[in-house]
Amino acid sequence: MTEYTEQQEMLRQTVREFARNEVAPGAAERDATGQFDYDLYRRVGELGVIGLLFPEEDGGSGADLLTYCLALEEIARVDLSLSWTTFVSLAGAHTVAAQGTEEQKALWTKDWVDPVLRGEATTSAGLSEPDAGSDNSRLKTRAVLDGDDWVINGRKIFITNAGLDNNVGVMVLCLTDPETRRYETILVPRGTPGYTIGPPMKKMGLRSSDTRELFFDDCRVPAINRFGVEGEGYQRIMSGFFVGRIVIASTALGLAEECLEIATAYAKERVAFGRPIARFQYVQGMLTDMALNVELGRLIRDKAARLSEAGKPFAKEAAMAKWFITETAKKAADDAVQIFGGMGCMDECPASRYYRDIRAATIGEGTTEIQRYVVGREMGLFR
Ligand SMILES: Cc1cc2nc3c(=O)[nH]c(=O)nc-3n(C[C@H](O)[C@H](O)[C@H](O)COP(=O)(O)OP(=O)(O)OC[C@H]3O[C@@H](n4cnc5c(N)ncnc54)[C@H](O)[C@@H]3O)c2cc1C
Repeated sequence: MTEYTEQQEMLRQTVREFARNEVAPGAAERDATGQFDYDLYRRVGELGVIGLLFPEEDGGSGADLLTYCLALEEIARVDLSLSWTTFVSLAGAHTVAAQGTEEQKALWTKDWVDPVLRGEATTSAGLSEPDAGSDNSRLKTRAVLDGDDWVINGRKIFITNAGLDNNVGVMVLCLTDPETRRYETILVPRGTPGYTIGPPMKKMGLRSSDTRELFFDDCRVPAINRFGVEGEGYQRIMSGFFVGRIVIASTALGLAEECLEIATAYAKERVAFGRPIARFQYVQGMLTDMALNVELGRLIRDKAARLSEAGKPFAKEAAMAKWFITETAKKAADDAVQIFGGMGCMDECPASRYYRDIRAATIGEGTTEIQRYVVGREMGLFR
């Protein structure tokens, strides 16, 4: 069922208008210069998109996951970079609001939650390392308790948002006991001695989304900076991934829909051999496949989000959504470039940017191969 509530449709319309009127006009320029637009991001906060998933008492609007996905989808249709900045930014804020003790909330809500929801600050999540992406058992960043402090040593890589001027810090996944492979999530504020942020990593796409390497050299933070139940940092991060997969799938769905729309419009207008290219069966095939896959993607994304909201198991559906929709979007962007022909390869054609931007989506938040593994595991194929 893909019908949405009246409230969801209203919000979708509001975000769509914002995306068309305020996000789309500068998207190509931000891609060309790699600049992040802080004022625009503040507008995302003002609209309430960032706080959708937060309860009202934490300053949010207590919306459900599907509502949040619909809003992000609209932003992603015109600027995938901005949609990624937006959802990654929740990492730290949500950890503080959802997992923090009263003492931790008193310490960090002011800097890590309130300004993030207003679009005035961002946070980051640091999991991936140079030697450990899909294979988390290779994570090496260590945190050792020394008196009342955690001392962190290690490196993280590909970390979104960490170098933005408005970034308040990173939630770092650290190994605390190599024997039993225990991990903890530890909050490291920006500016903490021993925490260094590398230069921006240059990417093929998503250029106005910030990506950095992070270094921790005897970086010392108080013991209270550890979040959640002791020793369960890894499980917590993994369960967060399931929701993250639905969210990232939603951004890819937005991009795929946009590719379908612009390529269809172009195919109806562009004339070759005396007729619009939309009349050629090979071109039609690209567009009809795109349309089918967008529909199917929406069904599986909605199902995964609704299962999650209902508190039912959704790991398999989240992995299917992430796998199917990001691959669909990658193919949709590729076919959109094909339909635009030579113009599709030019920077001035949005399909060219979508083609570069979407490439990371089948990799970040767990690769396609890992999603397929998860689906197989959930089907009991390894038992
Ligand atoms: C733009 C961008 C933003 C990112 N942002 C963040 C962030 O904010 N925070 C963060 O922590 N990380 C972030 N990442 C990192 C991302 O999560 C990792 O790149 C991803 O998990 C893959 O890890 P890897 O790059 O080490 O590849 P690897 O794990 O080395 O994989 C290489 C290849 O081997 C395949 N492979 C590995 N294991 C298996 C297996 N068991 N079966 C089949 N195939 C396998 C993979 O599918 C892939 O094709 C980001 C990445 C990108 C590109």
